[in-house]
Amino acid sequence: MASPLLRSLTAVFLTGALCGAAPAWAQKTYLHCGRLLDMRQDRAQTEMTLVVEKGRIVALERGYTAPAGPADKVVDLKNRTVLPGLIDCHVHLESETSKDNFLQELTQNPADIAFGSLDHARKTLLSGFTTVRDLGGSGVNLALRNAINQNKVVGPRIFTAGKAISGTGGHMDPTNGYRLDLMGIPGPTDGVANGPDQCRQAVREQYKRGADLIKIASTGGVLSVAKDGSSAQMTEVEIRAIVETAHDLGLQVACHAHGAEGMKRAIRAGVTSIEHGTLMDDETMKLMVKNGTWYVPTITAGKSVADSAKIPNYYPALVTPKAISIGPKLQSTFGRAYKAGVKIAFGTDAAVFRHGVNALEFQYMVEAGMPPVQALRAATVNAATLLGQSENLGTLEPGKLADVVAVDGDPVQDIKVMQRVRFVMKQGTVYRQE
Ligand SMILES: [Zn+2]
Repeated sequence: MASPLLRSLTAVFLTGALCGAAPAWAQKTYLHCGRLLDMRQDRAQTEMTLVVEKGRIVALERGYTAPAGPADKVVDLKNRTVLPGLIDCHVHLESETSKDNFLQELTQNPADIAFGSLDHARKTLLSGFTTVRDLGGSGVNLALRNAINQNKVVGPRIFTAGKAISGTGGHMDPTNGYRLDLMGIPGPTDGVANGPDQCRQAVREQYKRGADLIKIASTGGVLSVAKDGSSAQMTEVEIRAIVETAHDLGLQVACHAHGAEGMKRAIRAGVTSIEHGTLMDDETMKLMVKNGTWYVPTITAGKSVADSAKIPNYYPALVTPKAISIGPKLQSTFGRAYKAGVKIAFGTDAAVFRHGVNALEFQYMVEAGMPPVQALRAATVNAATLLGQSENLGTLEPGKLADVVAVDGDPVQDIKVMQRVRFVMKQGTVYRQE
């Protein structure tokens, strides 16, 4: 699939990284942009130059500016549309869907998970997603974030929740479906918390390990080996204890929820975002608008679990009916939430489907009634705001990090072009150029 140029560029970068070389800054890089959607405004500008120095955008100029010094570089994107690096607010880089996912939990060591995650991280970045929120894994995602930040391996900038939290038997209990003698009694250290005291401890455990945010599940989920995918699984008192503790530590809370009751409890308790939100009713949407709660829809995950469930024995028996009944509802819920004025940030739940095709979500958002520009805003400006990173990310303007992607054609006319990103720069370093 990858072009020879891409492979060689990647090889060059990896070789450099393995030798421990720091990224070599050209003095300045001039990106000649045929069309530029800076996302500060919804209309594209034509024939613009984006000047990058030391990983940041230092100027945005009309016309094609010639480089000033002999060490400066020019990147020709005159036939492309240039946009800010994309942000996926819901991924899990440690894993990827497969028929033996549930067995892997018992066979993989953290080192196996780490090596697997390298491929997922690389595919995500090369598809144009320069920043992600990793909403839970075993904790290897913390080490992956650090290794990427240190330029040891290739991947998107990661804001990670470490290990996600729920109650015993809840969506994040890591021993659901195990044989009794293997279940043990997982506790706050394992992301399993009952009652406000344990909830506070579970948050502090993640903070101590270096999480950037907290992820909880206030209802059941599709892929956990448990009967119910949508009933409430945490009390409002427990969620409040989590939110208050997280806020004391400067952390946001992202909340997985399918059923309306679990969503309402979480929104009232002050979570920052609702993930999936499948069975969201009108009352819940009103509450989200009133409280300014973000919605991260993950339509791609809903469609793909419903598809996988059609393959015999792909999922354990308890999971299949949930995947069939819950999955397909996400797209219409998203359409209603958008019309109701709920704040929306782009997120896919990549891992539930294969990494690197995250941009499918744009197409599904547009199919459900969101204008293409708004879908692009969800993955740039809005996502940066949700992350608390508006200073650095989300638009192309002087002072921001140089996270830049380019596509053929015009995504405002045909959103599907987002699925074939041709150029990727993260913090001034080029990772893909075709
Ligand atoms: Zn998820």
